[in-house]
This record gives sequence, structure tokens and C-alpha cells, in this order.
Amino acid sequence: MFKRIASRIEGALSFLRLPRIRAGDVYEDCAYHPVLCTEAWREGWWDWNLAGVSLLDGSQPRCCSARYCGVRKMDPREVAFRLKRREAWLAAEQVWRATEDHEAYRDLRKESDQFVQSLSK
Ligand SMILES: [Zn+2]
Repeated sequence: MFKRIASRIEGALSFLRLPRIRAGDVYEDCAYHPVLCTEAWREGWWDWNLAGVSLLDGSQPRCCSARYCGVRKMDPREVAFRLKRREAWLAAEQVWRATEDHEAYRDLRKESDQFVQSLSK
């Protein structure tokens, strides 16, 4: 009984933890593209859908679920790094799609963190 109530509360809290992404924001989608959100709409009370344009290759529409895709809002400095190293991110994507190995992004993520930190000082 208590467990059921606890899991209901947990469900409601997970809704509150969903990233707040609106049209005009840039989010990282489930294929690691920085996507300029052009539309965000509710899917029931527990989720919302996002659609937008990839800033890496212009592909669209790129649709994601805020709940199920693990999307996250991106810091503008991080977006700047993505655009600066666009070719490298696209090359990493090719490796990832061929091998399903997310390690392809490891060095770029490290480089990105350093770039963001250098701009934050
Ligand atoms: Zn997705």
C-alpha cells in the first residue's frame, strides 16, 4: 500500500524533473545532435514532445520525447563548441552508428567540457 503511494509520488516527481524545453531552446537529442527546438507540445500530462532542426546538419524534423529520449537542454557555450567542431561530431556519429559504441564521443565531450570551462572563467 505504502509502496504504491510512494511509486505514485515518484511518478509525479519524475514529471517535475523533465527538462523544460521550449521553442527557441537548443537541446541535445537522442542521437547527440544539438537541435534548435521549433515546437514543444504536451503528450498527456506526463510527457511532452519536441521537434526541431539539427544545428549539425540541418536535418528536420527531429522529434523527441522529453521523457523517453533522455534529451537535455544545452548550455549556449556547449552549442558553440558543437558548431566549432561540427565535422568531428559528425564523424563520431558515423562511428557510433557503425559500432553502437558511445565511446566515439568521449574525447569530444571532454574537449567540450574544457571549452565551456575556459569560457566560464
Ligand atoms: Zn529521441
